[in-house]
Amino acid sequence: MQKQLSHPDLSGLLELDSLNSRGLRPFTAADKVTLGRVKPQDRPKETRLPHIVTDNCQRCRFTDCVGHCPVECFHSDDERLYIDPDVCIDCGACIPACPVQAIYEVIDMPDGYLPWIEINAERSRMLPLIIAKQDPLPTAEARRKELDF
Ligand code: SF4
Ligand code: SF4
Repeated sequence: MQKQLSHPDLSGLLELDSLNSRGLRPFTAADKVTLGRVKPQDRPKETRLPHIVTDNCQRCRFTDCVGHCPVECFHSDDERLYIDPDVCIDCGACIPACPVQAIYEVIDMPDGYLPWIEINAERSRMLPLIIAKQDPLPTAEARRKELDF
């Protein structure tokens, strides 16, 4: 069911479900611009945005982020992690913890990364939870160098 937001700068533009990546339409670059006009502290509670693991995590899986997360929202496959947007409380603690800058709040994501919102939501639902730091993948240091971090 679609739900309109009450904030005057956002009303009619965003749907709650799409922000949770469970939605009726994907989060778009236009939504991002609109949200960017409103300071985070001024945003209505329902527009809090999940954090997203993007491409740089692939073949790293350093898992430093997991140790900094106050809730249990990271899920893992053999190559990388995903954040469950319904569990993430948007605290931001994982962003500086990642040595390869793989995590973004939706509002700060480059436009080309928007598909990762759906990927995180879908994959996190299917994969096991991890709640503690693990050893990085054997490819992690090579991948970090390849990414120039
Ligand atoms: S710290 Fe970064 S690279 Fe490591 S698992 Fe988390 S998101 Fe992936
Ligand atoms: S923003 Fe906070 S709650 Fe969300 S994944 Fe990162 S550390 Fe966990």
